[in-house]
Amino acid sequence: MPVWRAVAVPSQAAMDLADFQTQMRALYGDRDRGRGLARTFAWFTEECGELSRALFRGTPADREHEFADVLAWLASLADQAGVDLARAARRYADGCPRCGSAPCACDRPGAG
Ligand SMILES: [Zn+2]
Repeated sequence: MPVWRAVAVPSQAAMDLADFQTQMRALYGDRDRGRGLARTFAWFTEECGELSRALFRGTPADREHEFADVLAWLASLADQAGVDLARAARRYADGCPRCGSAPCACDRPGAG
């Protein structure tokens, strides 16, 4: 079993996506890989439901908590799927990936 080293980031400091993915791998990687992609995805969707409740009925603290949990499960899924989240995020680095503009000038609203 690989032993992943947690990222030493002070709790009040900003954490970039690469550090976050490394941290999630260190904290939960072995357990999540043991669960498998399908069951991990099921947990991710459960967390999305909790985020939905926090968005529409929760406090600001609830929202922050649920965004963190959804991001954690997303990082775990990415790790199992062999996707580097920081690299994936670069898809949006130079503007909308479809029209190339910032802000997006596409007819269809929303990301991607
Ligand atoms: Zn666009």
